[in-house]
Order: sequence, then structure tokens, then C-alpha cells
Amino acid sequence: MPDPLSPAELRALDRAHVWHPYGPMPGRQEPLVVESASGVRLRLAEPAHGRRELVDGMSSWWSAVHGYNHPVLNEAARGQLDRMSHVMFGGLTHEPAVRLATRLVEITPEPLRHVFLADSGSVSVEVAVKMCLQYWRSAGRPAKQRLLTWRGGYHGDTWQPMSVCDPEGGMHELWSGSLPRQVFADAPPDGFDAEPDEAYARHLRELVAAHADELAAVIVEPVVQGAGGMRFHSPAYLRVLREACDANDVLLVFDEIATGFGRTGQLFAAGHAGVSPDVMCVGKALTGGYLTLAATLCTSRVAEGISSGDVPVLAHGPTFMGNPLAAAVACASVDLLLGQDWELEVKRIGTGLREGLAKAAGLPGVRDVRVLGAIGVVQLDHDVDMEAATRASVREGVWLRPFRDLVYTMPPYVTGDDDVARICRAVCAAAKEG
Ligand SMILES: *Cc1c(COP(=O)(O)O)cnc(C)c1O
Repeated sequence: MPDPLSPAELRALDRAHVWHPYGPMPGRQEPLVVESASGVRLRLAEPAHGRRELVDGMSSWWSAVHGYNHPVLNEAARGQLDRMSHVMFGGLTHEPAVRLATRLVEITPEPLRHVFLADSGSVSVEVAVKMCLQYWRSAGRPAKQRLLTWRGGYHGDTWQPMSVCDPEGGMHELWSGSLPRQVFADAPPDGFDAEPDEAYARHLRELVAAHADELAAVIVEPVVQGAGGMRFHSPAYLRVLREACDANDVLLVFDEIATGFGRTGQLFAAGHAGVSPDVMCVGKALTGGYLTLAATLCTSRVAEGISSGDVPVLAHGPTFMGNPLAAAVACASVDLLLGQDWELEVKRIGTGLREGLAKAAGLPGVRDVRVLGAIGVVQLDHDVDMEAATRASVREGVWLRPFRDLVYTMPPYVTGDDDVARICRAVCAAAKEG
């Protein structure tokens, strides 16, 4: 082992060489150096604002639902590591991938039957789009190659996903001239519990019908729009989309990369609406936050359509497709989730967030406070001052990563009530000082 680098050396080399998400080079913000993580706590290499340990309010971007350094997931990784960490997936197969795919088919909405294992969420969305375009090409309708989505969404950072992210004010506005031009509906009206707005439902129906000849698919995040603005909407609009897609020969894709595996209070957010998509993407919490892995599921109709065309193959095959290490941990993570009363834990955290964040509603500069499942959001009437907000939450002993006008949290499901309360205090402090 080489000599360990000091925190100061790490920060200097990081600044000189390493890009961080959505950052300039060199970075403007000093990242905190994490030494290890266990349970819901990140241990820093040196104290920051008097804290050496931080409760993770972010689940490492929706993924670490069981917390860190979990004995069951560690054991799954170790066991697989001793057998093989990777083999190519072309012409070969293995138990972790087969088990995982079978498990995903079992737990996702009914007609989804086939699984493409991808190496990140964005790639799973690329695959979903490729499936839909190719389905119509194989069916002799090659003009159907555009996508429809509603504003306020986020589907990843590679090219096709960027083209269906919110086109205004989002992180991909810069590329609006070069991306494929998709069809955008207005953002869904706010509120999970809000009465469905008939005028909006009509808007969706009319837009799908008007573009039916050129639409391959409608793609949306069901119920919760995540990185596009942390907004919640009525599940009724998903039923409207399902009917409009069926009536107009358009496929429906649900991007459940953020919402999947219980986060919204249903195992998959589609469950709130009782509808099934033709294609569905999962990722993020799939491996419990251990390794990068995502999956695109589709129905037999889509798979058979593709496979009966002039080019009867789906031409996609990442080098690390079906990675055994990631698949083994994913199997263990899904079993761990389903082997416990996850619904109760998500409800418990939601109750804690509702109580703890109620105080934020009275703060100056706060526009809205909302909670759904184990997701808590405080929306400000101005863009967050990231440095001040981060300082305030770290002082409270909590790791948060606000963006735009949002201070939000989606804690690991294993977060205890005291730590949920602490996270809420930190969100309030960040909202006040940021
Ligand atoms: C995070 C996310 C993605 C992209 O996943 P990556 O693994 O970061 O590529 C796509 N869609 C949604 C809804 C997401 O939240």
C-alpha cells in the first residue's frame, strides 16, 4: 500500500486534477474528504465546522437506502469477489445476473418481462429510448422517433436523456440547439394529493394525439420529478398518459431510477397510479448504493417487436454489462429491502420529516415545504447560497447537498428517529442561512 495522503494533500491534488459533478475546473467549492462511512454516518478525514461525523441526509443521491458498510451487502460483495468480479456478458452468463433479472421481473409491474442490464441510469435511459425507436422501425413506422415528456423532468446527462430534461433553466439548457428536439408538455400541476386538473389532462391527451405520427414514446418520472425540481404530482396524470399512449400507438416509459425501491411509499411509483409502462428504468438504489448498475425492463410486446424487424437485434452491449459484482450486491440489496417492513420504515421517516420540517414553513424566504414517502423538500424563494447552506447543515452534523432553490433530504431507510430529527434541524438551518 502506498503511504496515505494527508487531507490537505488530497484536497490539493483533487483541486488540480479531479472533476466533480456539475463543477468547473478547478472547483470553486472545497469538497469535504470522507474517510469511511458506516450506518447513516459519513466519517470525515478532518473536522469541518467542529464535526468529524455527519449523518447522511442524501443517501448518496437516492442510492444508499440501507446505509453504509452493511454486513449483508459487504458479505454479498466479498462472496462474489472470491468467485469472480467480472466476465464479459457476450456469449456468457452467470447466476448473479440471471437471479437479478428474474427478481426484477417478479417485483416490477406485471407485463414487464425482459431485462437489459446497463451500467448507469443515463445509459438505461439511452437503452429505453433505443428500444422504443427500434420497436417502431421494426413495425415499419420509422417516422415515429420523437419523444414526449413534461417540463420539469430529469433523465440523466448523456445525449438522449438530456434531450428530455427540462429545457429551461435546467443544467442542459446550453445544448438545446444540438439535442434532438422533443415534444414538451407543460409541467404537471403540483401536489400528490391535489385534485387532478381536467384542463391539464386534456392538454396531455391533445399533445400526444397531435404528435402521434412522429412519437415513439412518452417518457416521464412517475409521481416525483427529482433533479429537475423535486416536484410531486397526482398519479392520475400517469393514468391519463397510459390511456393516451394506448389510444395513439405510442409507448410509455417510466423512469423510476430515483423513485424505485420504496422511496415514495410504493415499491415503484407506478404503483400509486396502478398503471404499467411498456418500458421502465431502474438504477440508483438498485445496488443499495454500493456499485453502479441500472436496468431497463420491457414487455414481451416490445421485445418481440424489436426482434422481428429487419435488424432483429438490440445493438447495445456495454463492456461491463451484467457485472457480477454489482448484480450480486443488487440481489442482496433487493432481498434485504423486501425481507423487512420497508413500508413501515419509509412511513416512519416520512412522519419524522413532516414533523421536523413543519418549522421551516414559517421561515422567511421559504416558499414551500413538502414531504412524500421518505423525501422531504424545502423550497426557497431564491437560489440557495450553497456555501452558507452547507456550512449550516455541517454545523448541525448533517450532510446535505442543496441545488437551485431547494434544500432537500431523502435519508437511508435505516435512519433512526433522532437522526431524522437532526436532519430536519439541519434542513431548517440550511434554509435559514442559505
Ligand atoms: C439520477 C437519475 C438518472 C441518471 O442516472 P445516472 O446513474 O446518474 O446516470 C436518470 N433519471 C433519473 C430520474 C434520475 O434521478
